[in-house]
Amino acid sequence: MDKIKVHDKFFNVFISEEMIASRIDELSKQINDDLAGKDLLFIGILNGSFLFAADLFRKIDMDARISFLKLSSYEGTESTGFVRRLIGLNESVKGKTVVVIEDIVDTGKTLEGIITDLRDKEVEGIRVATLLLKPEAYKGDYKVDYVGFEIPNNFVVGFGLDYNGLGRNLRSIYTLSK
Ligand code: 5GP
Repeated sequence: MDKIKVHDKFFNVFISEEMIASRIDELSKQINDDLAGKDLLFIGILNGSFLFAADLFRKIDMDARISFLKLSSYEGTESTGFVRRLIGLNESVKGKTVVVIEDIVDTGKTLEGIITDLRDKEVEGIRVATLLLKPEAYKGDYKVDYVGFEIPNNFVVGFGLDYNGLGRNLRSIYTLSK
């Protein structure tokens, strides 16, 4: 399906299921090479990253842990500009190399909050993997380590990303029709 409707809005296919799978394969290879020998903890940021986190994590071929944090700063198709911490981290992060897994980095506010928090917790190192990055919107200083796709500043759904609760189960990524 090239054109779909979610709630009241139409979306066009933008990144296919096959492109997503092959890019995740490449990212996992880089991570396996770069982080070999580290005490690794992946932290998936819910809800949006759950599919990306699952697909990436299953391709990590060394000892590694995974945990999830639930945050949200979006309502509808606009960022509300603040980050709410909904479910905290139970796992001990001290001495670990943490790989934060994001679905999408937009303004970077969410990421900034997470990185600030982790730096206070004596982690050994922090890496960030995001499936999508919107360079035009990104205002953060942190250089995102692993980026699936750089995309224009348009609202997208699918592969974990929602529009008001729907669209997460779409296998490709779709962009809002203009
Ligand atoms: P930031 O804090 O970087 O502005 O926003 C990051 C969060 O906003 C993401 O984790 C995601 O939940 C949400 N977000 C940002 N852009 C989009 C988008 O285009 N589509 C959807 N569905 N969510 C987005």
